[in-house]
Amino acid sequence: MFFNVRELEIQAVDFAEEFPPNAIDFGADMRQIIALESSGHAEVVEEHHGKHKIIKDLRLRGRLATSFELNCARCLDPVRQDVEREFELLYRPQGSDAGRDELSVTDAEAEIGYYQGDGILLEDVLREQVVLAVPVKVICRQDCKGLCPHCGKNLNLEQCSCAVPLEDPRWAALKELRARFDH
Ligand SMILES: [Zn+2]
Ligand SMILES: [Zn+2]
Repeated sequence: MFFNVRELEIQAVDFAEEFPPNAIDFGADMRQIIALESSGHAEVVEEHHGKHKIIKDLRLRGRLATSFELNCARCLDPVRQDVEREFELLYRPQGSDAGRDELSVTDAEAEIGYYQGDGILLEDVLREQVVLAVPVKVICRQDCKGLCPHCGKNLNLEQCSCAVPLEDPRWAALKELRARFDH
């Protein structure tokens, strides 16, 4: 769905869209497993800059919800990640950045971005919002043991016969010290 500034100037729109898996490219590491639902309101707000210059900002308020399957950062098993996010965004025309500080801040709360040409694609907005909402690393459970760095076996499922890594010598030294105090 494309938000065209000239059309929105005439009339603001309420939107409700559904995107099935793969309709939006989130990259190979994130597998969208249910439809992404998004709804909200789009409108144009004018910022007066000086006496003559009017900047047309696109304001988007809405929410999105979907679910992804990601890989555990330690053992690579799939982990389900539900994403729900509300957003309040303000897009200025690209190039209006020059006098940024002089522009009145229309929405103190809003995140500010930029649009090129006639407006902005909802899909692009949603991709960005999803990326912001999903943690960079997920783990399947707090005590995930991960994969053995030597043989690659999933240590949650089985213990391999590789040697147990040697203790960090700094800790060993501290332990020795404490043992001496204890006696
Ligand atoms: Zn794991
Ligand atoms: Zn191993």
